[in-house]
Amino acid sequence: PETITVQELAARMSERGADVIKTLMRMGVMATINQVIDPDTAELVVTEMGHRPKRVAEGDVEIGLADTTDAEGTQIARPPVVTIMGHVDHGKTSLLDALRATDVAAHEAGGITQHIGAYQVTLPSGQKITFLDTPGHEAFTAMRARGAKVTDIVVLVVAGDDGVMPQTKEAIAHAKAAGVPIIVAINKMDKPGADASRVQNELLREEIQVEQLGGDVQSIEVSATKRMNLDKLEEAILLQAEVLELRANPDRLADGVVVEAKLDPGRGSVATVLVQRGTLKVGDVLVAGAVWGRVRRLVDDRGQAVESAGPAFPVEILGLAGTPQAGDEFHVVDSEARAREIADFRARRDRQAELARSAGGRGTLEEMMK
Ligand code: GDP
Ligand code: MG
Repeated sequence: PETITVQELAARMSERGADVIKTLMRMGVMATINQVIDPDTAELVVTEMGHRPKRVAEGDVEIGLADTTDAEGTQIARPPVVTIMGHVDHGKTSLLDALRATDVAAHEAGGITQHIGAYQVTLPSGQKITFLDTPGHEAFTAMRARGAKVTDIVVLVVAGDDGVMPQTKEAIAHAKAAGVPIIVAINKMDKPGADASRVQNELLREEIQVEQLGGDVQSIEVSATKRMNLDKLEEAILLQAEVLELRANPDRLADGVVVEAKLDPGRGSVATVLVQRGTLKVGDVLVAGAVWGRVRRLVDDRGQAVESAGPAFPVEILGLAGTPQAGDEFHVVDSEARAREIADFRARRDRQAELARSAGGRGTLEEMMK
């Protein structure tokens, strides 16, 4: 069919008709339950409501989550993606630097450390861990606000001499809301005033029950500056990753999330992405948010050009026609025409949403629908 009714669309998504109508209103489209809407609008609603639209033919929209999953046999273990959060001055940056220095692959590659918003550490065992090193809370909330689920594990840094502070509680709330497991790193244990058990008891009041107090949250005493117990922290991360059974199919068109993006005076648009499924390759055509492009160059976290990037691998993309936003999803598609079509569609959708917002109709119409 060329078109679809609101009701039919709702049914295919297993959403309530009223919720579809509300979403349409937010986009500035007035519709009743039996109204017919065009494929572009349908695709937009589907995306807005957190589903993945799939057009089987031009003009037709098939709703399904089928392509968000890969068959069991196609998936292999992938590295965990970790975000470090905690109160200011408790040692997030120091810990990220210290962990980065544990990378055994760094020495042989000999590249200069690049700050691209994420990096990967290879442990002596050959296992890998990916760390997001964008400023913790903001990046985390920005990505969550855009619906991106990037982080598998939160490492909560608490200074052993300072204890649970307001941003510690905030970080706990973020992690819990996102359903991401926490590992506690009690930092600055080299300091005379540091007291791990005091911190653990304070955490109990925030409903974080560490193993030492009979719970199941791992808690490791570390010192970022003295590089103490970093291996224990990494072991704890790998153990948690094992419990989570993180897997992905590397043999498919890549998709993932934009971690950071900027317009570089010398290199044009540069986006750091984290591949979540599939393998991203030089020459691939992709859409990231409302931006499309052909991958001209891939650069890893040591500034080295690479040919491809698999699941949980952070990499800079050069060659995009614009600058996407942190938290935007990216998808490799099979043609430039398709990439352009989707990017145009999203740009139009963003403009519509912007117009609807500036018209001021949004709040009041939503209120009326409650
Ligand atoms: P952030 O605000 O959480 O990123 O904290 P920083 O990493 O910037 O650290 C804040 C201060 O604490 C800096 O002066 C660090 O040198 C210091 N610091 C961080 N980790 C440790 C540690 O393990 N031991 C000691 N003694 N100082 C630390
Ligand atoms: Mg910092």
